Amino acid sequence: MAKRKYVYFFGGGKADGDTAMKNLLGGKGANLAEMANLGMPVPAGFTISTEMCTVYYQNKGKFPPELRVAVDKAMAGVEKIMGLRFGDPSVPLLVSCRSGARRSMPGMMETVLNIGLTSKTIPGLVAKTGNPRFVYDAYRRLIQMYSDVVMEKAAGVEPAEGKGVRQQLERELQKVKDAKGYKQDTDLTVDDLRALVETYKAKIQAVLGKSFPDDAQEQLWGGIRAVFQSWMGKRACSYRRIEGIPDEWGTAVNVQAMVFGNMGDTSATGVAFTRNPATGDDHFYGEWLPNAQGEDVVAGTRTPNSINEATRPVGTEHLPSLEKAMAKTYKELYAIRNKLEKHYRDMQDIEFTIQEGRLWMLQTRVGKRNGPAAVRMAVDMFRERLITAQEAILRVAPSQLDELLHPILDPAAEKKATVVAKGLPAGPGGACGQVVFTAGEAVAWNKQGKKVILVREETNPEDVEGMRAAEAILTARGGMTSHAALVARGWGKCCIVGAGAIHVDAHARQLAVGSTVVQEGGWLSLNGTKGVVYLDRLPMVIGSEENPYFVAFMKICDKVRRLGVRANADTPEDARKARQFGAEGIGLFRTEHMFYGKGAEVPLFLLRKMIHSKTVEERRKALDELSPHIKADIKATLEAMDGLPVTIRLLDPPLHEFVPRAEDERKRLAKSLGIGIKELEARANALHETNPMMGHRGVRLGVTYPGISECWLRAIFEAAAELRKEGKKALPEIMIPVTCDVSELRDQAKLVKKVHAEVAAKYHVRKIPHLYGTMIEIPRAALRAGEIAEATEFFSFGTNDLTQMTYGFSRDDIGGFVPAYIEKGLLPADPFQILDTLGVGELIDLGIKRGRATKPNLKVGICGEHGGEPASVKFCHKVGMNYVSCSPFRVPIARLAAAQAVAEEAQEPKGKKGHK
Ligand code: PEP
Ligand code: MG
Repeated sequence: MAKRKYVYFFGGGKADGDTAMKNLLGGKGANLAEMANLGMPVPAGFTISTEMCTVYYQNKGKFPPELRVAVDKAMAGVEKIMGLRFGDPSVPLLVSCRSGARRSMPGMMETVLNIGLTSKTIPGLVAKTGNPRFVYDAYRRLIQMYSDVVMEKAAGVEPAEGKGVRQQLERELQKVKDAKGYKQDTDLTVDDLRALVETYKAKIQAVLGKSFPDDAQEQLWGGIRAVFQSWMGKRACSYRRIEGIPDEWGTAVNVQAMVFGNMGDTSATGVAFTRNPATGDDHFYGEWLPNAQGEDVVAGTRTPNSINEATRPVGTEHLPSLEKAMAKTYKELYAIRNKLEKHYRDMQDIEFTIQEGRLWMLQTRVGKRNGPAAVRMAVDMFRERLITAQEAILRVAPSQLDELLHPILDPAAEKKATVVAKGLPAGPGGACGQVVFTAGEAVAWNKQGKKVILVREETNPEDVEGMRAAEAILTARGGMTSHAALVARGWGKCCIVGAGAIHVDAHARQLAVGSTVVQEGGWLSLNGTKGVVYLDRLPMVIGSEENPYFVAFMKICDKVRRLGVRANADTPEDARKARQFGAEGIGLFRTEHMFYGKGAEVPLFLLRKMIHSKTVEERRKALDELSPHIKADIKATLEAMDGLPVTIRLLDPPLHEFVPRAEDERKRLAKSLGIGIKELEARANALHETNPMMGHRGVRLGVTYPGISECWLRAIFEAAAELRKEGKKALPEIMIPVTCDVSELRDQAKLVKKVHAEVAAKYHVRKIPHLYGTMIEIPRAALRAGEIAEATEFFSFGTNDLTQMTYGFSRDDIGGFVPAYIEKGLLPADPFQILDTLGVGELIDLGIKRGRATKPNLKVGICGEHGGEPASVKFCHKVGMNYVSCSPFRVPIARLAAAQAVAEEAQEPKGKKGHK
């Protein structure tokens, strides 16, 4: 059997791998290979595959001997291309060692730079560069990184708080700066650095009991091991849990020739996006620093400059753009930007270094973006014909679309609010919350149900769980590519970075801006779109559906999707909102909602009067009085929908829900009804349900009190007839809830026929157009759907009740055990949120098949909460429903999910397409 290949070479215009090999080479390695294949200037190197990570863990940290052979061979290739030799005293090659998983995990794993600097190679590099300061600076960076990453973390040493070797070395560095009165690291002279590295080495020996290795090969293997080791590090594991990345994927290790951006004024380093990741704007967007290494840009320790003039933030005029400072190199970089976008057909996030005027590409990957940017880029790239409509649709995650619909600070309140600080707008939208200063507090406060803003000097990967728990993140330092900005953007979280005026004192649990002090628990409000921080708690409003890119994007979705999208709406206002969001009808109008809230007093009183009536005659009279109120409500909603279908459900809840519970309210009602409290209570007790959700409700009310159904039906038909007489359109769909047998539907159909005839005669019309259908929310109804379809024109799956009855989980009190089920992995998710496609889904599939076997053109929809949940919507598409119905704010998400269902279907291998 041929030996497995574990090492993949790249450089000199060719590579063993390519971008399709992400699983094996990790994202970074696959893209470095691809850039090399494209003839871009990539420092030569090699990738040790993710499979080796698995082997490493299986072999308990031992490398197989063939790996050493392959690494030596690849290193020889790198040496040849770069014209240098690893560990060689005269022409030393230095390498970096970086992680690279299938999916990017920013800052979660380890990197070691400048590997290969030893007492043997230092003189050679000094002679070659003529720059001893640069060499010793590189050396002290290597020692700092290596001792931390390889000798401490990878070795499993867990130092006490503040006692980590890196921090101890940093303190040594600070001591030298303080003693000499230096402000910046760049003030250190070569002699300072020479002395400092000796101090470092002694410190490492004292702290870790081992000496820093003075051998290039030992350093290299230490680096490789540390990267593999960091895959199972705490940070990486916790990030993977949040992001749902499996442990088995493993990381690759990229060993690559070092190039230096800190070799003087003709050297530089930078990070850029081929388009703006915060807005989607089609401008090359990025940051760079002259005479610096990559970590300086990302760490936020120096304020980076804008890459070009077009995207320069106000107030940075004194910092030259790369476009101005190094025009020729910028042009070359710009050409690469264009080539990369064309090649990858997506926005790229790139890292580059300029060493003595020569441009080197260190990384390209698909750039993370927030929701508004994702939508804009999808629309722009579709218009530019870079991508197809289906690709555009798949570029926006439903949760990202949600960001556009998310709240922002109330602009009116914002005008009057006190600005405390300004920073860079790293994550748009608004947020307000109580200030906390550590990730741990953010998690703890969030658990108590509090909304918090995590305020940090700058964030680091250890903070991810706190960042996740926070409403928003605010940092005093860092740029648009800093850790906080990247992570927040990935999650679509409101975030402001680099608010330099803020002094964060995490120890004293307070922040200060001038004389203003905000203690832990104090309120702040953030406008992440503008980068403005306000004192106090500002009101929020819902984000804009006016955004022209959002409108254009939804149009693309609508062209592709086949599934209809309706809304669940119970009031004319909700109906109007639903239409604004693009609903094509109302899939569920729960008429009982008219007995709650604003203006409900009179109809509720009349309903209660009906409930407490003693004779059929009394009940009929009460219902006659009630009917006009129901009619008015239904009419307003039908009118708002202007001829779009409106599925109106007859009364569903058990009557006991409408009987007042409080003693004084009962007394008041008895008085208003002119009956004794005893009598009222006797009736209330008679109505009392032991198990209300399985009780006297839904169609059972209509069977036992036909007058109730008649009252509702009269209201529906009269509302529709009146609107038609007024020259307006109305299309009511009468829906019977909680049915389990066709006999119930035949029984109610008689009432429909009777009331229709009466109302038609009253309004002198032959017919009032309507449909007659049922909810399928009891398993038996799904099983008997074949017969039920004989008596109905549509089905609407009520998956809230159907889930309840299929699992036997009460929908109102699952809190006691479902979280434990999820935690233990017994349930993949809460089935009331995400449709259980296996069990409940099988009933749905079966119900549709049986229904359509009887009536091929039977209209089928869903109106349970799952109708707005993306994965469930995709299932509804698969089983051939005609529409989904969900709350108005979820309508755009459902439209997107429905379009994605079509696009994903097109990607499936042939033979798997079509309905199940
Ligand atoms: C359902 O059961 O899914 C449904 C939509 O009805 P309700 O939630 O009102 O019971
Ligand atoms: Mg129901």
